[in-house]
Amino acid sequence: MKNILVTGGAGYIGSHTVKILLDKGYSVIIIDNLSKGNKKLIDPRAKFYNFSLDDKNKILEVFDSFQIDFVIHFAAFIEAGESMKDPQIFFKNNVVNTINLLEVMLEKDVKKIIFSSTAAVYGEPEYVPINEIHPRKPTNYYGLSKLMIENILESYNHAYGLKSISLRYFNASGADEGGSLGEMHMPETHLIPLILKVANGSRDKIYIFGDDYDTEDGTCVRDYIHVNDLADAHILAMEKLDEIGFDFFNLGNSQGFSVKKVIYICKEVTGKNIKVEIAKRREGDPARLIADYSKAKNVLGWEPKRDIYEIVKTAWKWHENENS
Ligand code: UDP
Repeated sequence: MKNILVTGGAGYIGSHTVKILLDKGYSVIIIDNLSKGNKKLIDPRAKFYNFSLDDKNKILEVFDSFQIDFVIHFAAFIEAGESMKDPQIFFKNNVVNTINLLEVMLEKDVKKIIFSSTAAVYGEPEYVPINEIHPRKPTNYYGLSKLMIENILESYNHAYGLKSISLRYFNASGADEGGSLGEMHMPETHLIPLILKVANGSRDKIYIFGDDYDTEDGTCVRDYIHVNDLADAHILAMEKLDEIGFDFFNLGNSQGFSVKKVIYICKEVTGKNIKVEIAKRREGDPARLIADYSKAKNVLGWEPKRDIYEIVKTAWKWHENENS
């Protein structure tokens, strides 16, 4: 049985990936300091270590206790807005801590990693759909921290033979079909959970950040991708890593939905009225982000299986009875 180390396994995408790994018979070791992750999302079948990747000795202890076969690295700060106010903590937590992890991996001769990257590495799109050769000019320090790690991975592949695949997620959303896992960010800033918190009565209204964009209805268009489709991609990437060596892939649906359209779909799925207020644009929001995922399809054999309705339905199952 292969041992997979998952950093950030108590987070949103991490916890969904852990569940699928365990269901497939992999053995999972989680490192998460619970600063953003949640204990409720930790699968009891996994081994769990509560510490931060700034502690290299603790990482070493985990590698001494298990023969790790692969690392899937999710642990990171993800709030783009926050990164503009305090880039230092993003560079320390995301970049420096990844360097610590890689240092231990090299020391222990574990040379396989799947890295959780983001569409934010592209910045303002020059064209859509965005493919992997689109220029990478992040417009926030969160995206820059992820791009720095991608570049480090490329140089480590070249110099040390470290194998890696970076997966650039578009808008991760939805929840596990079983209802035991879902999106729990503190604070929540993402569109779909915020709309569903209005539907379940824990919030008063949803603010639309700008309705004067150059799109069909003036609101921003995004490519929403189900969290379990993302989780599946990690497993495919892991299984193909030996033959691939080093690469990066976009993960999205190649379909764009405006903020207004998403609100409309949430109304349809929940049957609830959702109060809306137009607010000013949020800084750094591109009008339209849509993935071209054909490279992931051709090379990894990955294709999304769930559409926006499935995303909202599963997310609603998670949020329906939650009132925070
Ligand atoms: N958005 C919004 N109101 C909110 C939260 C988000 O209008 O309360 C918009 C946001 O401007 C963006 C889209 O919804 O165009 C998706 O935002 P989210 O934060 O979910 O993901 P992002 O695209 O920033 O990664």
